[in-house]
Amino acid sequence: MSHHSVHIHPAVDDGVKRGSESFTGGKLYCHCSGDQVEVTVDAQCAHNHVCGCTKCWKPEGALFSMVAVVPRDKLRVTAHEEKLEVVDPAAAIQRHACKECGVHMYGRIENTGHPFHGLDFIHTELSYDEGWAGPEFAAFVSSIIESGADPENMGNVRSRLQELGLPPYDCLSPPLMDAIATHTAKAKGVL
Ligand SMILES: [Zn+2]
Ligand SMILES: [Zn+2]
Repeated sequence: MSHHSVHIHPAVDDGVKRGSESFTGGKLYCHCSGDQVEVTVDAQCAHNHVCGCTKCWKPEGALFSMVAVVPRDKLRVTAHEEKLEVVDPAAAIQRHACKECGVHMYGRIENTGHPFHGLDFIHTELSYDEGWAGPEFAAFVSSIIESGADPENMGNVRSRLQELGLPPYDCLSPPLMDAIATHTAKAKGVL
């Protein structure tokens, strides 16, 4: 298996779309055939990336999810909120999923001490609107093994990510890891 036959995610397999600088948001829809949950986001997304963790929602057959953040005050559920439920109430990120189709519509952090409090996690592929900022890196790459990916194929996966311009990291990207550490240091009073 060469790295050209590695399918990362349908939104990036034919090349990463960069998005539009004038884009100011759009609507997200779940996968139900009727009575879709609708989420309205009044902002461009930031830190879009593909994620290999086992918690993020991903489409059938994809190795990675694609996930970005938006300010939580820019996100509203605008239709069929009654179909949403939190996947794992104990998780740091409360992923609000459609009970019928299983798609995660947004993830929210309620712990005000969390480094990413104030940001909601979204999957821009749920939108028909064009212009969302494209993914910039790959996070938690080694974790795809926990979902059953072949450990022997990881070299091909990382080569393909590099080729797509998505530098692979086994945690978050250096700027985000620095932001978390800075938050922790300030909370401890050492910064
Ligand atoms: Zn649904
Ligand atoms: Zn993830």
